[in-house]
Formats: sequence, C-alpha cells, structure tokens
Amino acid sequence: MNRAQSTLWDDMRTTLSDAIDLTAQSLCAYGPQHEHWAIAYSGGKDSSATLTVIMHLIETGRVPAPKSLTVVYADTRMELIPLAHAAQQIMAHLRARGIDVRIAVAPMDLRLLVYMLGRGVPPPSNSFRWCTRQIKVEPMQEVLANMLFSTPGTILMLTGVRVGESAQRDARIALSCGKDGAECGQGWYQEVLPEAPGIRGRIATLAPILHWRVCQVWDWLMFEAPALGWPTTDIAVAYGGDEAAEINARTGCTGCALASRDVALETVIRSLLWAYLTPLMGLKPLYRELRLPKWRLRKTGLDADGAVATGKNKQRMGPLTLDARRMGLERVLGIQNECNEAATRLGRPLVDLINPEEESRIRELIAAETWPQGWDGDEPTGDVPLDTVYADGLIQKLLV
Ligand code: SF4
Repeated sequence: MNRAQSTLWDDMRTTLSDAIDLTAQSLCAYGPQHEHWAIAYSGGKDSSATLTVIMHLIETGRVPAPKSLTVVYADTRMELIPLAHAAQQIMAHLRARGIDVRIAVAPMDLRLLVYMLGRGVPPPSNSFRWCTRQIKVEPMQEVLANMLFSTPGTILMLTGVRVGESAQRDARIALSCGKDGAECGQGWYQEVLPEAPGIRGRIATLAPILHWRVCQVWDWLMFEAPALGWPTTDIAVAYGGDEAAEINARTGCTGCALASRDVALETVIRSLLWAYLTPLMGLKPLYRELRLPKWRLRKTGLDADGAVATGKNKQRMGPLTLDARRMGLERVLGIQNECNEAATRLGRPLVDLINPEEESRIRELIAAETWPQGWDGDEPTGDVPLDTVYADGLIQKLLV
C-alpha cells in the first residue's frame, strides 16, 4: 500500500499538537490536586520528553505551576554515556531556571557493580532480577520519602510511562522494562513507588505522555524541544538519529544483563562521535561468563551433618567466587581505561563505570571475603561433580 494513501484510521491518529493538548489537559485535571510535583527523570527519551514538555507547558502558562517542582534524576551509575551526558546538560538548564534537581543513587554497597563484584551476587537475570528495584526504584523512593518528610501534603509524581499506539485501546501500564523501546524503571516507578513504605497514601503518579506515539517523542526531542532551547538533540542522536524511530532501542544500564542485545549501545557506537565507547560491548559477555558454574559456588544439598538440606532447590547455584570477582573487576576497569584513553585523546566525555571509591570498596569487600546471606564461602564451585539431591530428599550417587 502506498504510505501516502489515506486510510480509514487517519482521523484517529493524533498529531503531536493533539498529543501535547491531551498532556496539558491531564496535567490541568490532576495537577491542581497536589501542591508539589516531582518528575522522575531517567535521561532516556520518554522521561526527557516528559520533563521538557511539562516545563514548556508551565512556562507558557498552559498548565498552572505547582507550588514546588522537583526533578529527581535516577542515576544508576550505569547510564548510557551519551544519555548521561545529555542529562547533565538538561539538569544544568533546569538549575539555571531555578528548579530543584536531586540525584537518586543507590548507597555504595548496593550499586550494581559493587553488589556484584564486591558482595558476589551474580549478574541479574530474568529469574533473579534484583537490579531495577535496588538501583532505580529504591533510591527514587528514598529521595521522595525525604521530600515527603519535609513537605506537608501530597506529591504528584510524573513519570515518562508511555504505551504509545495501544494507549487508546489498552490503558494498562506495562510493568516490564523491555517493551516497545521502553526505559527500564518507568513502569516500576508507576506501579511500585506509590505502595512503598513511608510513601503509601501520600504520593500519586501521573504519566502525562502515556498516549504519545514513539514518532511524536522523536519529533518533540529532535525539533520542538531544541527550538525552545532544550539540548535534547543528542538524545535522539544517541538512539540512532534519523533512524531512531525504526531502531526504537530500549535503554537502561549499559550492557544490561537482562537484554538479549544491547541495541542502544550498538547504535551509539555506530556514530563516529561515540565509537570510542566500543569496548563497553565487552560488558555483556563478561556478565554471561560470570554466570558459568566455574565462577560460582553451589550448595551440595546436604547440611553440615550430612543430612539432606531443607528447601526446594537444594543444589542451587550461588554467589561469585572471590576469583570471579577479581577477574570481573579487572575486566571492567580494563574496559573503562580503554574507553577513557580514547576519550582523553579525542576530548570526549569520560566513562565512569567504577570510580575510585567504588573500586576501593569492591576490593575491601573481596579482601574481607564477604558473602551474600546464606553462603559462607566453603561451598564447592558449580563445576564440581556432586551426588544429585532431589527436592523430595532422594540422593542419586555420582556414577564413577
Ligand atoms: S537496565 Fe537492565 S541491569 Fe539496569 S536496572 Fe534495568 S533490568 Fe537491571
């Protein structure tokens, strides 16, 4: 079919201007019920569009300004460099406009690489996804809880959740972080935060661009927002520039261990400006390697007295060995150094995966032989052949 040919559905498609009108209407309808607003900002395309369109609507008087507006930037310490770089510039613009900008970052020991390489918890996976809540949701929750502590009344938290084309027929919010180029964390903010202890009942969430299609997000970031003085062009470039809509990369942590491919990073390094970040492609293979049995401890299925242990998964795989952590640390530092040597030569933004404080904390935790709860380091590694202990307690001896 000719793309220019009109269809029965043409009238149902909203333009960007219609989409912005709907955004303004939702903010006007729900905003005045809350004196204080907070914007959960991840630096990705949806939350950057949300943030800048809200600022625009307030500045042009289309939406009444709240008593206070706080932008909370979720810094996982694993952000995609071009997005982190653009976020820094946007935050500088916000501060210059007098907006209160706060950074939500996990405490040292809970940051992704410190938790993994210092404490020895294996890389997150679909069956053991410890990361989103720990490095994104809980730090955001803590900043909001502190705000609530010092602020009477309720807070309206605005997120960049977007369901795009399906919005009109399906208003469910996708909790997963991997659909339709979504940004990891946005759905979690919407679903998990309002119920968090210390917050329950005092925070409402609103997703004012819920109905925007992805092409409208790009149009806003590439043309409309820059014309208003927002440095959002680099965000679109980081997602693939003119091809961003087709690529529709999902963003989250650099080398996200849960994504089958790091499409966002693959896209970024195709640009000459960011090609020096290519060594970061080594993160995903490292995470895969760290899941191998030889780098992990495993329960024998028997307790200290030789009796069958309790629990279902009696011979479960567990934490990273101390050698695995040392190997992982050297590999990540090597990747970081390689990027930064090139960055320094080219005058480009530096990579900051592990800073000196994090490195020394990881080394300290390894030296102290720190193990996750329930493990003491005496367990065999996962590649050691063992008698099989079944869930019902039966033992099958090793055939020798
Ligand atoms: S992007 Fe990946 S690694 Fe980062 S928090 Fe989300 S799921 Fe976890």
